[in-house]
Amino acid sequence: MLLVNSFDVEPWWTSTPPCVDPADWGGMPDRSAGPMAEYLDLCDEAGVKSTFFFIGWYAKTFPERVREVVARGHEVGCHSLLHEDVSTQTTAEFRETTLTARQIIEDAAGVAVEAYRAPSFSFPPARSRELLTELAGMGFRVDSSITTAGRVYGGGHSAEQYPRPMHLGESLGIDIFEVPVPGVRIAGRDLTVFGGGYFRLAPGPLLNHLARREQYQVLYLHPHDFDPDLPPLPNSGTVSQLRRKLSIGDIRRKLLDLYASADVKTCGELATAAA
Ligand SMILES: [Zn+2]
Repeated sequence: MLLVNSFDVEPWWTSTPPCVDPADWGGMPDRSAGPMAEYLDLCDEAGVKSTFFFIGWYAKTFPERVREVVARGHEVGCHSLLHEDVSTQTTAEFRETTLTARQIIEDAAGVAVEAYRAPSFSFPPARSRELLTELAGMGFRVDSSITTAGRVYGGGHSAEQYPRPMHLGESLGIDIFEVPVPGVRIAGRDLTVFGGGYFRLAPGPLLNHLARREQYQVLYLHPHDFDPDLPPLPNSGTVSQLRRKLSIGDIRRKLLDLYASADVKTCGELATAAA
């Protein structure tokens, strides 16, 4: 299996829709230093690289962590400014917040930021062509916002249109390399088992089985996936609390097993290989 390794770097309280007003983010306790260090060490141990999609606010607040990611040989991408739901933004708002975020992340990283992933995969299928064209116009070389799995704020993109990582020049006339996040067919539903809450919930043997069955998958993790003592999400319902809190098995063990059984690549490596 070809496994794309990625990590979305955002504070533990980000959610769609937001449960904490950005004006209050400065007063929230940071819980991500330990998880960031743990994930970086895990990648070193497994001998794999990853694409770290930072939100602009995080890069501005913790620029030294962006620098460390670069120093340890990983890629840095953009994951919006304040984890905005793109499906609610106008095209002009999307452009403005994305360019602001990229500048902040590049200032912290000291290298060009060429990859983008939308928060919560919030590209609606009807607007994906327009938004991808915007990204290409801003100079992004790689996108990973498209998922064929149905998600609350986006997703449900056509697997025929986005079957695998590919440059979209031929099919859509857009100069960008897409790394789509495929759903996994389980009990008649397309689920994104290789990321976030679903990954925490999936038993190790199931993941290993899927790794043998699937040809291509995208792993997308977050700092809070490595935080066993995650506090309740402020102002949120029980279901989202449970979804964030539950985990089955040791995430470290699950990851090391997967990495050992897959051909692990970053988003940028795939784009470069295809160019
Ligand atoms: Zn996110």
